[in-house]
Amino acid sequence: AIELSERVGRVKPSPTMAVTARAAEMRAAGHDIIGLGAGEPDFDTPDHISAAAVQAIQAGQTRYTPVDGTPALKQAIQAKFERDNGLEYDANQILVSSGAKQSLYNLFMAVLGSGDEVVIPAPYWVSYPDMALLADGVPRIIEADQSQRFKITPAQLEAAITDRTRIVVLNSPSNPTGTAYSRAEFEALGEVLRRHPDLLIASDDIYEPILWTDEPFSNIAMVCPDLAERTVVVNGVSKAYAMTGWRIGYAAGPANVIGAMKKIQSQSTSNASSISQAASVAALNGDQSVIGPMVKAFRERHDFVVKRLNAMKGVSCIAGDGTFYAFPDVSGAIAAIDGVDTDTALAEHLIAEANVALVPGTAFGAPGHARISFATSMENLEKAMDRLEGAFGRG
Ligand code: PLP
Repeated sequence: AIELSERVGRVKPSPTMAVTARAAEMRAAGHDIIGLGAGEPDFDTPDHISAAAVQAIQAGQTRYTPVDGTPALKQAIQAKFERDNGLEYDANQILVSSGAKQSLYNLFMAVLGSGDEVVIPAPYWVSYPDMALLADGVPRIIEADQSQRFKITPAQLEAAITDRTRIVVLNSPSNPTGTAYSRAEFEALGEVLRRHPDLLIASDDIYEPILWTDEPFSNIAMVCPDLAERTVVVNGVSKAYAMTGWRIGYAAGPANVIGAMKKIQSQSTSNASSISQAASVAALNGDQSVIGPMVKAFRERHDFVVKRLNAMKGVSCIAGDGTFYAFPDVSGAIAAIDGVDTDTALAEHLIAEANVALVPGTAFGAPGHARISFATSMENLEKAMDRLEGAFGRG
């Protein structure tokens, strides 16, 4: 066999894959599996957005665009940042990528040298640590548990920063926990970050509008304007507009960092799809009222799921602030079920015995938990909660 790079050997296969593969296998064998693993909205892309893509095709917008995005989309992104976040960027401070995921990957590749550290609060989105490893960096995980609503404290942040730290990742509202930092919490984290002037902050805002706190959305750059010049804000249309398949994300930040990210993208994938870019212009400049009904549905499902989970034996789930995930502590259930001693084993047990697929917390750096996506119909959720209750018992 051909020998592979040392780099690829650093990255672990996703722990979610076993469960996903098992679910697919069981479905193929005729079992009625309810999937609560989806990381994407179950809604269709709004019509006016899809129509803009059809128009772009018919108008011949089918060629390469500038690597960093069409002028129209970059203008729409600048306007979005001003409108929603009060942040102003020049055109050379914006990069359009094939998903927020590519923007983040470009960022790690642009900033990290061998052995440089990335501070990543856990529970984390599965890709941050592996992206750091692929870029020759070292993930430095901060564990934030349920009692702190899965959010890191300033003292934890201070303790995690070393001479090698280059990037601190913040993701609010969070995948997988659904919790969001308040302005006051960002302010307190900002005080720590001010003491480390060489650090870059990566603010992953991909779930921005899917939030139901009284306090409106904020991020570290909005709350601490003096830190904005060393923050890269990453966002995209995937979750807000139900556009995961279109693959458009973007980053905004210091011109030299964005320029370096653009250079990497220019030598790897070039521009994101011209057609998807046209659709994203319609999403960002068009009627924003398409978002509200989706958020309302997510919130209703959230309330239902959290209530049902807390009525189950060995399960404890805090209410989230947004996103479409619940992240219950299932350690009591793990202890109670014979032959199950990890969250991964529990997930396998639940597929086989309850025909419900969910993602074990270990995938997110939080053993003893499970991620439940409620990006599926209420009917499915009712059935799934009945089945989970059957497996765990009431209590
Ligand atoms: N960041 C977080 C926290 C996510 O959950 C996701 C998607 O699952 C992404 C980034 C990437 O989004 P996309 O590449 O679709 O824009």
